[in-house]
Amino acid sequence: MSDCLFCKIIAGEIPSSKVYEDDLCYAFNDIAPQAPTHFLVIPKAHIGSVSEVNADNSAVVAHIFEVIAKLAKEQGMDSYRVVSNIGEQAGQSVFHLHFHVLSGRDMTWPPG
Ligand code: 5GP
Ligand code: ZN
Repeated sequence: MSDCLFCKIIAGEIPSSKVYEDDLCYAFNDIAPQAPTHFLVIPKAHIGSVSEVNADNSAVVAHIFEVIAKLAKEQGMDSYRVVSNIGEQAGQSVFHLHFHVLSGRDMTWPPG
């Protein structure tokens, strides 16, 4: 999607701090980290949010969770939070599906 910030990051048109990449997904550090570790994992194919996941595109979501588990093990993260905001009221500001991976500090529940 030409006017999508994260599609531009995937295309290398906007620089990012890469954590991991494969054919299906890209992981990079959040520009405004909310925890000592805070990276985003996104599908390379544009999906607007969890609300656009369906039978045709859901395989990439399972793949992303495998990648998250792998990266967490590699980085020695034994406690972490995975978050996806859907819609503006929930805090979504970039409308390309992404999973926040946060770790390295105490976290509250319920979230604010
Ligand atoms: P959302 O608010 O949609 O759940 O999450 C979007 C995230 O993208 C935010 O945590 C924000 O800091 C991050 N972000 C926004 N623009 C950029 C950018 O240009 N580069 C990087 N690395 N992260 C960004
Ligand atoms: Zn996009």
